[in-house]
Amino acid sequence: MKITIIGAGPGDPGLITVKGLKLLQEAEVVLYADSLVSDELIDQANPEAEIIKTAGMHLEEMVQLMVERVYEGKDVVRVHTGDPAVYGAIMEQIALLNKKDVQVEIIPGVSSVFASAAALGAELTIPELTQTVILTRAEGRTPVPEAEKLRDLAKHHCTVALFLSATLTKKIVKEFLAAGWSKDTPVGVVYKATWPDQKIVRSTLENLDEDMRINGIRKQAMILAGWALDKNIQDKDFKSKLYDKEFTHGYRKGVKE
Ligand code: SAH
Repeated sequence: MKITIIGAGPGDPGLITVKGLKLLQEAEVVLYADSLVSDELIDQANPEAEIIKTAGMHLEEMVQLMVERVYEGKDVVRVHTGDPAVYGAIMEQIALLNKKDVQVEIIPGVSSVFASAAALGAELTIPELTQTVILTRAEGRTPVPEAEKLRDLAKHHCTVALFLSATLTKKIVKEFLAAGWSKDTPVGVVYKATWPDQKIVRSTLENLDEDMRINGIRKQAMILAGWALDKNIQDKDFKSKLYDKEFTHGYRKGVKE
């Protein structure tokens, strides 16, 4: 017996995968967290399907429901925002489902980190500037392991993507400055990426906290920090070695002039 966890993408119903949409349309039971997944997407489920909103449910309650339906022989899917692998809290569901002999297949989705990069027109890995993206969150009520404090992560001076951190910008700025980032480091914030009320705010480390306040952004925001977010990056000379004529790689011999 099996259920499928489907990544819904960041909001725009057009951003689910073809495979995810097909499974959603075929499902007999659809569970989803109503605040984070677009109703427009869920409307594409079979009109006969049982649709269950899970925002107000406990984990055990939700798992119990899924198990009951699967045991009845129904085709059950659970739709998760973005990609289920990051901050999706799927492992606790999988553990309980496996205990009941229910297997889980996961269909990936477009994470909000990539939808936000797209909205900003950004490449997060600019050759010779940074080749690393750290996906993390600022520490609020949810603790973060000691070895992953923002100030230590920021010492890599790479691109940093902050989930679940919209109300923690004061702390973020303090930690990044302590790690040696300059006040003018670009920060791109995308509120509700790909939703009709998406908002893009381009800021700097120095102005981030105030810009968040001015724009009234307190949730559902992706914060992308680092020089890759510089809106004038294309005028600078960070060009990929892949396109460099002198560079030989597996597919193409380098050309010397
Ligand atoms: N699995 C999801 C993340 C869920 S955690 C994903 O891959 O995107 C929820 C956090 O994700 C939010 O606090 C916010 O930081 C980010 N997020 C989710 N949807 C978003 C969107 N449409 N625009 C901007 N940020 C979003």
